[in-house]
Amino acid sequence: MHLGVSESMRECEYSQISTRSSTPMETPYKKRTPKKRKWESFPGRNKFYCNGRIMMAKQTGVFYLTLVLILVTCGLFFTFDCPFLAQQLTPAIPVIGGVLFLFVLGTLLRTSFSDPGVLPRATPDEAADLERQIDVANGSTGYRPPPRTKEVVINGQTVKLKYCFTCKIFRPPRASHCSLCDNCVERFDHHCPWVGNCVGKRNYRFFYMFILSLSFLTIFIFAFVITHIILSSHRSGFLNALKDSPASVLEVVVCFFSVWSIVGLSGFHTYLISSNQTTNEDIKGSWSSKRGKDNYNPYSHGNIFTNCCAALCGPLPPSLVDRRGFIQSDAPQLAPPTNGIIMYGATQSQQSHMVSEIETERPPPHLSSSSKAASPSS
Ligand SMILES: [Zn+2]
Ligand SMILES: [Zn+2]
Repeated sequence: MHLGVSESMRECEYSQISTRSSTPMETPYKKRTPKKRKWESFPGRNKFYCNGRIMMAKQTGVFYLTLVLILVTCGLFFTFDCPFLAQQLTPAIPVIGGVLFLFVLGTLLRTSFSDPGVLPRATPDEAADLERQIDVANGSTGYRPPPRTKEVVINGQTVKLKYCFTCKIFRPPRASHCSLCDNCVERFDHHCPWVGNCVGKRNYRFFYMFILSLSFLTIFIFAFVITHIILSSHRSGFLNALKDSPASVLEVVVCFFSVWSIVGLSGFHTYLISSNQTTNEDIKGSWSSKRGKDNYNPYSHGNIFTNCCAALCGPLPPSLVDRRGFIQSDAPQLAPPTNGIIMYGATQSQQSHMVSEIETERPPPHLSSSSKAASPSS
């Protein structure tokens, strides 16, 4: 392997060591360390499993509680109630229950294990470049930090873009910084500890399908466990029926206490989807008419049906964080950071595309061509 190192690579190694004021212990022929993947130095507070394929929030305790509650309740239902119900009523009950259970589990894991739409942080070069643009745009006086907002017009509504001091980017419309995960997330809805992840542009529909199917599953189990208890109480009396199936009692208790919040949450998100709002916008009252007569939601498509289709069937954007890509230590854009930022993120071109998308006032010379391409009007 070492024999194959070209002359230029070796030169590169020498020059790196000489400019970094190496310690005397370092030798130019140091061992080649195995290539690191980008998730290993991801700057946000996330957990990764399966070599970066699975991405979650740091705190996952409540997620495991969700998982245990679903698995235990369904396990008890299929073991103790379904044989009786299938025999007395119809074998369709365990089949429908099984399909619902698999759908709930699938959508939960899809929500929890995926990238919710994290925006990559700016590289030091990009951050410095943006910093310069802000200074020029605000006529830097050096005394007072200039306001770091931009305004864009979306469907006739002025939307403010805020600068994220952690990610060093202007957040695109509807993005927000999750303080728990320490990432800016596109179309940020909320951070959900129950699923152990942020809910954003890339996993919102799965989150919605999860809570909706969980509502049906909870009502389904609740109804048929009650049916089981009633049918067996006809034979042996109510108290004996309860004594004979303690599992059913436990299921009824779990379902009774969880069904209200789950159904309520599904209803709330159905309302949000039908009006194309996020939880974040609803809580802040961003598009509330209380803010002014002509304050309206610019993202709404005008009717409930189109809003639902857009939220549930629209195209899913690809992940912008290349979690499984290799960190290239000799690439020029990954030079050691000068201002203490840990570098990570999408490729330079993705980043500059994003900057150019939100840049509305004064595109920098090297981005002007791409921003022209990005806006169809010019
Ligand atoms: Zn941020
Ligand atoms: Zn989060």
